[in-house]
Amino acid sequence: MSLLLRAGLLATGTGQELENGWLVVRDSWIVEVGSGPPPPADSVIDEPNCVAMPGLVNAHDHMYQWATRGYVPDGTLFDWLRALYPVWARLDAETVRVAARAAMARLLLCGCTLSSDHHYVFPAGRRAGIFEALVDTARELGLRFHPCRGSMSLGQSQGGLPPDSVVEDEAEILGHTEDVIDRYHDPEPGSMCRVAVAPCSPFSVTPALMRDSATMARRRGVRLHTHLAETLDEERFCIERFGRRPLELMEDFGWTGDDVWYAHGIHLSNAEIDRVAEAKTGIAHCPSSNMRLGAGACRVEDLVRAGARVGLGVDGSASNEDSNLAAEAHQALYLARMRAAMLGRDDAPRALDARGAWRLATLGGAQCLGRDDCGTLEPGKCADVAFFRVDDLAHSGVADLVAALALAPPARAQTVVVNGRAVVREARLLTADEDEIAREIATTSARLRG
Ligand SMILES: [Zn+2]
Repeated sequence: MSLLLRAGLLATGTGQELENGWLVVRDSWIVEVGSGPPPPADSVIDEPNCVAMPGLVNAHDHMYQWATRGYVPDGTLFDWLRALYPVWARLDAETVRVAARAAMARLLLCGCTLSSDHHYVFPAGRRAGIFEALVDTARELGLRFHPCRGSMSLGQSQGGLPPDSVVEDEAEILGHTEDVIDRYHDPEPGSMCRVAVAPCSPFSVTPALMRDSATMARRRGVRLHTHLAETLDEERFCIERFGRRPLELMEDFGWTGDDVWYAHGIHLSNAEIDRVAEAKTGIAHCPSSNMRLGAGACRVEDLVRAGARVGLGVDGSASNEDSNLAAEAHQALYLARMRAAMLGRDDAPRALDARGAWRLATLGGAQCLGRDDCGTLEPGKCADVAFFRVDDLAHSGVADLVAALALAPPARAQTVVVNGRAVVREARLLTADEDEIAREIATTSARLRG
């Protein structure tokens, strides 16, 4: 069976922008790309009023947080975490399922086709079924998914930030991580599910767990993910406790290489940026969350110039109350320019351009996640495609459509195809009832607030 996808403008992410462009999909793979009269196909999706581009890739998220949006609207990361840990201690598999349905529905509706999720809260006595709920929900909604088995093991009694009620025993963490790799990790090209190993942060995990996690991930051939260099509070913690800056600490633990990606990477020195780029370690830039928590501005321009792999993430929806990944491309663009302007640069508007922002949101994220089969629209890649309307009031008549979609980010995608299957049409989710998801999350969030 062949599927033909057509759009008024097809931006392939490889430098081609084809008017009246089309893709032919066979068995979930792109087999042909062109423009003008298309070849015949068994079925057709035709969106003449849309720009089609590679499906967006979300390189950092915590989907359970959809159930705790709107808390501590004006706090720093550490204020916000201290307030939320006791709420998160009440999570269970059903709460995570409801939150993940909302988070994934929102991501699909904004054009995201591949998402990671960093789940690190497994409260004592409530762990059963949490990871399974995430994987099952991605299958239900049709999202390509990289669940990261997160963890916390350094409780307050040991000098860490989280209360002891949300940290786990290290042997149990490592055992459960191996178990979920066995059950869910698919390393094959076109995979719909790959597991990563993801201790939470230097202030919530012991050095031993960081080291053991890296050893296990390499033995199993899976990727490593953690938060790093997000705030100056974290930097002070690392220097006071370990006498090392955050990146130095991770280098000590063996956490560098092309199989590692960090969330945030804000407070990096010039030399550290060069080392991250040289090691081909990825950075998931989360501009809305970083601005929401006043954490700082990632040095995206410097990282890209140094050759680092930089993707975008919405981060958890407790620090980004929407999770619109298309809007993160917009935020990344504006934040990079503002950062350059604050440094007194005359060329600040060229710190990041629209096509560069879309590249972060697509290919850059795919590189962070180790997916050479995603992130661009060309033969041999997975058929993951997002279509955005440009005949609406916000965009109709605008001169440069690809730039316009970054400067004025769409609230929704018109059509979204994941693995050759349409999961969004006419800006509505086909795989679940969006209104039911909204009702469920309202009830669950209210119950969690207590
Ligand atoms: Zn995060």
